[in-house]
Amino acid sequence: MNITECGFNTKLIHGGEIEDQFKSATTPIYQTSTFAFDNADEGAKCFNGESAGYIYTRIGNPTINALEKQLAALENGYGGIAVSSGMAAVNTVYLTLLSSGDHIVSTDAIYGPARSIMENQLIRFGIQSTYINTTNIDVVKNALKPNTKLLYIETPANPTMDITDIAACAKLAHENGILLVVDNTFCSPYLQNPLNLGADIVFHSMTKSINGHADVVAGIIIAKEKNIYTKLRNMMIGLGCNMDPHQAYLVMRGLKTLSIRIERAQQNAQQVAAYLEEHPKVAWIKYPGLKSHPQHDIAEHQMKGSGSMISFGLKGGFEAAKVLMNNLHLALLAVSLGGVETLIQHPASMTHAKVSKEGKIKAGITDDLIRLSVGIEDLNDIIADLENGLRQV
Ligand SMILES: *Cc1c(COP(=O)(O)O)cnc(C)c1O
Repeated sequence: MNITECGFNTKLIHGGEIEDQFKSATTPIYQTSTFAFDNADEGAKCFNGESAGYIYTRIGNPTINALEKQLAALENGYGGIAVSSGMAAVNTVYLTLLSSGDHIVSTDAIYGPARSIMENQLIRFGIQSTYINTTNIDVVKNALKPNTKLLYIETPANPTMDITDIAACAKLAHENGILLVVDNTFCSPYLQNPLNLGADIVFHSMTKSINGHADVVAGIIIAKEKNIYTKLRNMMIGLGCNMDPHQAYLVMRGLKTLSIRIERAQQNAQQVAAYLEEHPKVAWIKYPGLKSHPQHDIAEHQMKGSGSMISFGLKGGFEAAKVLMNNLHLALLAVSLGGVETLIQHPASMTHAKVSKEGKIKAGITDDLIRLSVGIEDLNDIIADLENGLRQV
């Protein structure tokens, strides 16, 4: 059976299988740093590419490669490159595709460190960046410069939940000879497939929904075409930000239940969003599954569901937000997202603390914004916890 022709859920369960003499039901963990060659000629062939044998785990490892193949199949790409974290994926993409003198245009409300590494570190290497609201394609168009090499978007954006039209960005990028990169962490391959909408590269922090159990930090980059894939892989090998085989095993285990975890979490999130939208102490809420979301239509078009992430603000601002966060007992006050457990955090003082004050204001990361990642606990318990916390506000 050709796994690439099977449905999404079959790929989740069987897509990570490899040939194994003992026919184990799960993918074996090849916890080894190096691999022996049959003889000196074979070793030379592995190095010059004539033989596909394994050499060294930073370059490639059977357990890690199984996960890479599985994610490439789920995102419909040429190949995947597993890395040690989501940020390793971000930096591998930046360093592969940007040189001194190049320019990147990016969503303003993106994962905080992906922006601060650009504005505070890569600027030292002569790489310029412009951060804009990518929900408006005309704004994106006007931000492009002759030296723009990369259009980098995150949708839904972190933490504003703004939605960017991936297909429109792909068209604009390609008309201008630019590559489109999409951070698909919030959606996972289950809810959104940017390569199918025209993107050239998609990446994930697998720390979030893909692994889903808050016990691994990892990332993956998937390229649509071979030549970009090869460049990215060579950069990863050089940077040495490879994934560990044991973590690859854990991610493959978590991945098997991706569909059912996301279905359950987004059912909960839709109800929690409806509850918050009606609550008298809530000033505003952004969730793609609510009709009140400004890009609800685009979300319906490009996402297969609304996901488990909600942003909202209380009428009492940051002070009220603190009271709420300090009075929750089920939801953990913690960063990260997309796992089985409900998490709450305050982006302006936590995940996005390093983005400048003006940057935050422009991107809509207001002081009152609370980010909620809804888990798969019983809905009644999640709402009772919020109800109790809001009562203290
Ligand atoms: C967490 C996250 C990252 C970074 O991933 P790490 O695994 O923490 O390095 C990048 N993008 C988004 C949207 C994230 O949520």
